[in-house]
Amino acid sequence: MSQQEGLKKIVSHAKEYGFVFQSSEIYDGLAAVYDYGPLGVALKNNIKAYWYKAMVDAHENVVGVDTAIFMHPKTWKASGHVDAFSDPLIDNKDSKKRYRADVLIEEHIAKIESKIKKEVTKAQKRFGDAFDQAQFLQTNGRVVDYQKKITEINSEMKRCLEAEDFTALKQLIEDLGIACPVSGSKNWTDVRQFNLMFDTEIGALADGSSKIYLRPETAQGIFVNFLNVQKTTRQKIPFGIAQIGKAFRNEIVARQFIFRMREFEQMEMQFFVAPGDEMKWYEYWKGYRLKWHKALGFGEEKYRFHDHIKLAHYANAASDIEFEFAIGFKELEGIHSRTDFDLTQHQELSGKKLQYFDNQLNKSYVPYVVETSIGLDRMFLAVLSSALKEQSLEDGSSRVVMQIPAFLAPYKLAVLPLVKKDGLPEKARSILQDLKFDYAVHYDEKDSIGKRYRRQDAIGTPFCLTIDHQSLEDDTCTLRDRDSMTQERLTLQDIQLRLQQKVSISQILKQLEK
Ligand code: ATP
Repeated sequence: MSQQEGLKKIVSHAKEYGFVFQSSEIYDGLAAVYDYGPLGVALKNNIKAYWYKAMVDAHENVVGVDTAIFMHPKTWKASGHVDAFSDPLIDNKDSKKRYRADVLIEEHIAKIESKIKKEVTKAQKRFGDAFDQAQFLQTNGRVVDYQKKITEINSEMKRCLEAEDFTALKQLIEDLGIACPVSGSKNWTDVRQFNLMFDTEIGALADGSSKIYLRPETAQGIFVNFLNVQKTTRQKIPFGIAQIGKAFRNEIVARQFIFRMREFEQMEMQFFVAPGDEMKWYEYWKGYRLKWHKALGFGEEKYRFHDHIKLAHYANAASDIEFEFAIGFKELEGIHSRTDFDLTQHQELSGKKLQYFDNQLNKSYVPYVVETSIGLDRMFLAVLSSALKEQSLEDGSSRVVMQIPAFLAPYKLAVLPLVKKDGLPEKARSILQDLKFDYAVHYDEKDSIGKRYRRQDAIGTPFCLTIDHQSLEDDTCTLRDRDSMTQERLTLQDIQLRLQQKVSISQILKQLEK
């Protein structure tokens, strides 16, 4: 299956079962803007809870805030977004499609990487058990040439971006023979800079309204509140402030479902440290965040770090956690060492001191900051990409199943009376009544039991509970496991215990402490 086909399957499944809809669909939609349906919002809330509990509840020295989307316009001057939050864009003259110049080049590199992968797979087949991948990568002539090419392209792209040399960037695209994926032509415009912030007016027009921006990141709401939070919580450095909230970017490339949206949600944490301590904390948070991802059990090989070749204006170190989406390895989360850039800038533009008095060092300073920043929607897509599977079963049939980790699943349990009579629906509803405030439980009595199991598989419900005639006599029911499809007859008490063990978020949070 091609990458685009893989993504298409996810998009249509997400729509069919009410996870994600195109925004304003009845008006033919709005590009790169999406709405979450009933199952989508449940999954999204569970991802948020996992992040918030791991970052805030699990860390005594991390606290939460919820700051406004609108901020004083000087905020964005101070942060550098007014002057520098732009992407290099390029248009194809034939298709009239617009692209990010750096993304076109990165996609070209990804193609070379997949050629390397193919060579490795071929050699693996040829040499069998005797195959030594590390040695092959170092010695195979073709692979070495590919790798050399990648290094050359990366270093030229880095040079162009750092020097803002857009003529050379266009030249690089031409030299690499990159063609527009839509028209297939190499007829490109010049590369130009494009600011990604949305703006609007605040106040009534008559009394002198002024231009303000929709925030392009949640971080600045944390920076400007640094002292408010530090003083009211009496936190001592090192400590962090975490927030989940909407961000807006007028993205140029907007073709990848919820991977790149114009309105999206971020989960960000700014960790304030003493100058000089930032690298220690940068390594700590890189490690902790990767652990958070891996605990989901999607497979260790799905993640890799990618250190930035072009550092943002505020950073002295930055790395992405990349995830293997249906569309290939892409950035899922960024971990950035932002130095004292933001607080110093806000101090200068606001004229207010943003310093911390360190009792241990007996001096005041502007703290350094290590940031972790993850897109909630991208995380949602990562979960869908890994969870959605088509399986062939032993009896020759097949099923579509979403193997969402149980604690993230929209419903934890579906309660299903075997038939719609003989008092079974009433029994089922009384069980649902007992459980519904502890777990997200779904009730379904339509269609055959087999069809109902399939429906729950397709939306990722980890357990189904079937109530039959015996249940009326001895209070036992059949618990069916989504992944193994095994069924067990258990008492209601045992079922409660099983749910506690298998769907609780605290188990996974405890794992992160190890
Ligand atoms: P990219 O290089 O993909 O544009 P970025 O480096 O600009 O991302 P950051 O500014 O570091 O992204 O934002 C932090 C996180 O926010 C990203 O890792 C990503 O998960 C998420 N994010 C950024 N832009 C978008 C978007 N347009 N749609 C959805 N999520 C986004």
